[in-house]
Amino acid sequence: MKVYKGFTASPGLVLGQVSRLDRPPLVFGEGPFHPEQEKQALEDAIKVAQQELDEMAGRAAPSEQAIFLFQSMMLEDEGFMNEVAFQIKAGVGAAEAMDRVGRRYAAQLAAMKDNAYMQLRSVDILDVTQRITNILCHRLRSWLALDHPVILASDLLMPTDLFSVPAGRILGLITAEGSGQSHAAIIARSLNIPGITQVGEDFLKDCDGREVILNATEGECILDPDAAARQSAITCICEMQRQNEELNAQLELPNRTRDGEEFELLANCFGPEDVGTAMESGASGVGLLRSSYMMMPGHAMDEQEQYLFYTSCLAAARGRMVTVRDRTMADAYQGVQSSKLGLRGIRSSLRNLPQMAVQICALMRAAAKGPLRVMFPMVTDVEDWDSAMQVVDHCRRKLTERGVEFEPDVPFGVMLSVPAACMTAEDFTAHGCRFFVIGTNDLTQYTHAVSRELAIAEHYYRPASPAMKKLIAMVVDAARKADIPVTICGLAVGNAVNATQYLHLGLRSFSMSPQNLLTIKKALRDADAK
Ligand code: PEP
Ligand code: MG
Repeated sequence: MKVYKGFTASPGLVLGQVSRLDRPPLVFGEGPFHPEQEKQALEDAIKVAQQELDEMAGRAAPSEQAIFLFQSMMLEDEGFMNEVAFQIKAGVGAAEAMDRVGRRYAAQLAAMKDNAYMQLRSVDILDVTQRITNILCHRLRSWLALDHPVILASDLLMPTDLFSVPAGRILGLITAEGSGQSHAAIIARSLNIPGITQVGEDFLKDCDGREVILNATEGECILDPDAAARQSAITCICEMQRQNEELNAQLELPNRTRDGEEFELLANCFGPEDVGTAMESGASGVGLLRSSYMMMPGHAMDEQEQYLFYTSCLAAARGRMVTVRDRTMADAYQGVQSSKLGLRGIRSSLRNLPQMAVQICALMRAAAKGPLRVMFPMVTDVEDWDSAMQVVDHCRRKLTERGVEFEPDVPFGVMLSVPAACMTAEDFTAHGCRFFVIGTNDLTQYTHAVSRELAIAEHYYRPASPAMKKLIAMVVDAARKADIPVTICGLAVGNAVNATQYLHLGLRSFSMSPQNLLTIKKALRDADAK
């Protein structure tokens, strides 16, 4: 029995057999190659790959479809494909040319140390390059013909790996490297597959076919567990099932604290798929729709596409309020400029007015179809707010001129994540702000001058510190004076102790990941508001 430590990518506890996903090394032919034939073979392979990606996108949740779209778009990227064509012309085989260029692009992205977003996209480039080389070399695209559910182990998981095996056959995931922020991890979380990353190469050496307890919640796994560890894992799994049943019983109970105060539970979502899940878990609406997730670099969604996305979210919310965070694609694009202390959120939107206007128009049109409100993130002062409202006025005029159906009176609000904005919250209400959402993820990092991703400085990242409480109290106070709603959202709200503290600060509306809704409901029902 041996314990391996890693990091949680997707929580959960499972017991099962390991199946090691091995990618046999590619061996390329020696040539000589005929450039024309190679070019044709590459074009055919791209068509097959794009069909496969389309098919996988069809099976993925809407919030994840962008991952496949990005990979498919890479195959149409002029710069990338020109380089491949150049190599083919110089006599290199199509598969090797694709492999060389793909690896180089991936290495460049992986080296962008100050841009975590681009670093993560590097795996997508490798993934799609590998798909093409496999097609060209007539190799399988799915490595495992699984006939029973297993815990998949690999050095690194590619986003499409999770779709390359029959549904329901993956019990868990263990990777030697990888990151909890990767696309593969995002997909694992949404599919509820427990997973850990960074267990180290050692684990992979001799794990195939052996039994493992994967305790992803604790970020560890036990290879060849002894009878006692096995028994204790089985007991825990049974206990978790019992707790789940108990939590599900919460669904029927009212959102009321022990001393009789009503509260509201909202969900943080990405798209129609998890909006639906959130509603099933008892959310009264969406407190944060991270709209930017549907917008991948290179593909500017037009107004109609955005409109359809928002109306699908409204349909999934079944008549309940959806709060959309307005954040343009430019935000994801800008590298250093959009880093934490740069031009993120509204700052970036206000520098890309045409894109911002497209989004606001799509939102105002969608709002005619159901209850929808819009908030601006990273607002620092009332000047930001006034500038944003000018764009809203402009969109209102344009939509009126066009004669299309839209909701002229969409409530606009501020997502408070900058301490300066919290300290001057009443300025926004004086200028027509209709609601507040406190974004604790970012507010904590800006208040404590600590990056939310930096594990080594985690000690400073305290979302319910005395400083945070002061800022939150200021916002609650300003909302009360102006009689507007205020919601608190972020990862911290999914923690029962923090949520109870926020309740004591006067908050009655909480927005969190759908999977935390019932736990928090129970905690708040067991608490006194006063
Ligand atoms: C926040 O900042 O609190 C938040 C919920 O937004 P995100 O995690 O998307 O930055
Ligand atoms: Mg934020």
